[in-house]
Amino acid sequence: MSTRRVKKTSTKSVAKDRGAHAGHAHAEQESVSGIPAGGRSTVQRDAIRRVFGESARPLSPPQVLELARAIVPSVGAATIYRSLSQFVEEGFLVPVELPGGATLYERAGKVHHHHFHCTRCDRVYDVDGCGGKLEKLAPSGFLVEGHDLTLTGACATCRAA
Ligand SMILES: [Zn+2]
Ligand SMILES: [Zn+2]
Repeated sequence: MSTRRVKKTSTKSVAKDRGAHAGHAHAEQESVSGIPAGGRSTVQRDAIRRVFGESARPLSPPQVLELARAIVPSVGAATIYRSLSQFVEEGFLVPVELPGGATLYERAGKVHHHHFHCTRCDRVYDVDGCGGKLEKLAPSGFLVEGHDLTLTGACATCRAA
């Protein structure tokens, strides 16, 4: 894998808007939460990274926001969306497209698997393997180059509720 790029993102626009130190992020400048502006986005990114390290499931942006806020209460939705696309660029996460258009995110590099979408609680779970016989569904003479498979229904927790 490629090495992680250190990206310059972040809090610059905030610093600029405050006038005095236009053009460069000032390490001593404090954000509303009291964390130095220069370190704030790193703290938030680390929290989001940790969320995915601890989750066995693909997560939607609102779910990431909720879990990240349990670690860093000041994290906002804009930071979540920006960090998610950065993590995809960096190869740490991959998007999971669900039927119906929702996009979730999971750790990159997992072995071939599919997902179970619980329509009660909206959680998505990994499903191992796929039987490997889906190619046989294609008409004779067709070349199958890939497939998507999402199971839907009620997860064990929701079934028991
Ligand atoms: Zn459920
Ligand atoms: Zn498969």
